[in-house]
Amino acid sequence: MSELSGGDLPKGPERILGENAKLPEMERFFGDLYGRRDSIYLPDREIRAQLLYRGIDDLQSAVRQKAWLPIYEVMCARIVSRIFSIARGVDNVSLTEGLAKKYPLEGCAYCGQMPCVCQENRDPYQLSTPTTEQEQWSLRDWQEHLTKMYGEKNQQRGINYILLRLGSEYGELISLERVIPRYSIDEVKDKYSLELADTMAWTIAAASMLRVDLQKAVEKRYGNGCRACNQIPCVCPPHSFDQISKDDYGHILEASFHS
Ligand SMILES: [Zn+2]
Ligand SMILES: [Zn+2]
Repeated sequence: MSELSGGDLPKGPERILGENAKLPEMERFFGDLYGRRDSIYLPDREIRAQLLYRGIDDLQSAVRQKAWLPIYEVMCARIVSRIFSIARGVDNVSLTEGLAKKYPLEGCAYCGQMPCVCQENRDPYQLSTPTTEQEQWSLRDWQEHLTKMYGEKNQQRGINYILLRLGSEYGELISLERVIPRYSIDEVKDKYSLELADTMAWTIAAASMLRVDLQKAVEKRYGNGCRACNQIPCVCPPHSFDQISKDDYGHILEASFHS
């Protein structure tokens, strides 16, 4: 009985997020964890985008208050979870595909260079065909790649600029939502995969600036299931849209404030 026989195997262990999981595996894991709760309590994309914005705003205020690394880890991990939630709401559009088209191995989609040498008034971007190599990447691989491409430039721009750009992604998601009826289903999925890839890229940029290893942060926060209800899938009550204050930091490290 050394071979895997499928059907009779217990479902439990494989639903725990493995160490260094590839990005598509991570997305599937989050679907198992929060897909059901989101479909009940966050039925449309716009409310998911609002929850994403709340997460971005919480990270911005943590940075303003000069919080410490474990807080930044939780804040960045929550944003990742909320990006996945929106992707599930667009017929499970693939983050990996969007990232691979917009942030290819060869270099910047605008200037074609590695690292990026774009000026502020840059040319329009060129999309690439996703490679099989990038399909196998984890969030950590993406963080390393984007740091090579944009790390130096982002250091010059500073964390406040990065957070501002991340915040503006919410506006772009909402604008996209408004024009959906003009496009075919495939076009909508393409547009969302690129927009969510940009949102993820700015999240990764913020994480790097704050010295957060995003893969580790996500594993720590969600790898064993929901911190609040201890279950997969999560059976928690509706999401909180309350702003997190400095007084809540101890509490969020303990439990709660999931997804
Ligand atoms: Zn460039
Ligand atoms: Zn839960």
